[in-house]
Amino acid sequence: MTAESPQFIESPDDPSLDRLCQTLAGWAGRWRSPADWPADSLAACASAGVFRWFLPESAGGMGWNDVDQTRGYLRLAAADLTTTFILTQFVGACRRIAGSDNPEPSRRWLSKLMDGSAFATVGISHLTTSRQHLAEPVMRVWEDPSVGGFRISGTAPWVTGAPRADVIVIAGTFDDGRELLAAVPVDHPSIEPGPGADLLALSGSCTDQVVLHDTPLSAEMVIAGPQADVMRSGVGAGTGGLQTSTLAIGVSRAAVDYLFHESTRRWELTPIAEKLAVETDELERRLLQAAVGEPCDATELRGTANRLVLRTTQAAMTAAKGAGFVTGHPAGRWCREALFFLVWSCPQLVASEQLCELAGIGAKIRP
Ligand SMILES: Cc1cc2nc3c(=O)[nH]c(=O)nc-3n(C[C@H](O)[C@H](O)[C@H](O)COP(=O)(O)OP(=O)(O)OC[C@H]3O[C@@H](n4cnc5c(N)ncnc54)[C@H](O)[C@@H]3O)c2cc1C
Repeated sequence: MTAESPQFIESPDDPSLDRLCQTLAGWAGRWRSPADWPADSLAACASAGVFRWFLPESAGGMGWNDVDQTRGYLRLAAADLTTTFILTQFVGACRRIAGSDNPEPSRRWLSKLMDGSAFATVGISHLTTSRQHLAEPVMRVWEDPSVGGFRISGTAPWVTGAPRADVIVIAGTFDDGRELLAAVPVDHPSIEPGPGADLLALSGSCTDQVVLHDTPLSAEMVIAGPQADVMRSGVGAGTGGLQTSTLAIGVSRAAVDYLFHESTRRWELTPIAEKLAVETDELERRLLQAAVGEPCDATELRGTANRLVLRTTQAAMTAAKGAGFVTGHPAGRWCREALFFLVWSCPQLVASEQLCELAGIGAKIRP
């Protein structure tokens, strides 16, 4: 697709991406609580065509390739993690909708999602990384011919932008273990989105649980299933777990850039900034190679990205001294944001290795 508007950012090398990132970085400190949903930043992204980078032309997108998408995310995350994180959940929902064999969810939602007049998000982690230790699924689905499809009931524990969503891509489990993915409009009275929890960081993302009380799901809402392992069905699947690492590297870049900025008047910071920049460059190089499709251990990359973001942001805090500890200084925000990567979609292996490191246990759990 040729961009419909001259303002659309056409590639990660487009100078208008610099301008957008400057704007986002200037506003990033505003998104502090669930009352601070970053509507201005999301609107700026929508009008710059950012939402369209991630979808194929056939679905109304601009069809950026995986490398360009990754480069775009790196830049946005360095500017404003809250907005970029919301974007990842939005894009996750759009991809699932666009990738469905059922044309109905796309027909109903895609054009509104692309122009920013509707917001979509995902509530799927209870099938992957959340509540896995519980005996019963937290979101149950069953067939109900009286509504021409199914009903779904339970709690999606984590839904970014829950109170802002027009449609949520929600996963549920049948009693026989099969699963279903559906694009559920939020305007039904049986759906109760939380207002947004107060979080250690990213509170502006308005992440909260969403409770569904026997909500009817018509056949038009179904994206995939009923089937086993619906999340592995490949419908709208992304680039194999690299996205979380991408955002961690983006935040690392922001912290390293800050160190360079400070080093212009404090020469002793120069070798620190340079060393951390080399590591950030190297990890970014590996990430982009993986995005091209070269073999990559995504779990190892995530662990390395997690360690890097913790070190770079704490280096920024150390350099910023007490001033960095005052609310509003970006170093404090980056440090809190770095902790997010310890929990967000964190594979068990990465979490186990992190715990061993923290405990000073040398032997790795990795098989
Ligand atoms: C800010 C934020 C935004 C998010 N946004 C989204 C989103 O938009 N969509 C989405 O789908 N997901 C989202 N997630 C979910 C995320 O990807 C992970 O699934 C989530 O962080 C996993 O944490 P959990 O507390 O749910 O894990 P759980 O494994 O459910 O752990 C919760 C608690 O259960 C107990 N526990 C854990 N394991 C065991 C065990 N083996 N035995 C006994 N007790 C145990 C512990 O006390 C633990 O604290 C978000 C997460 C965060 C933090």
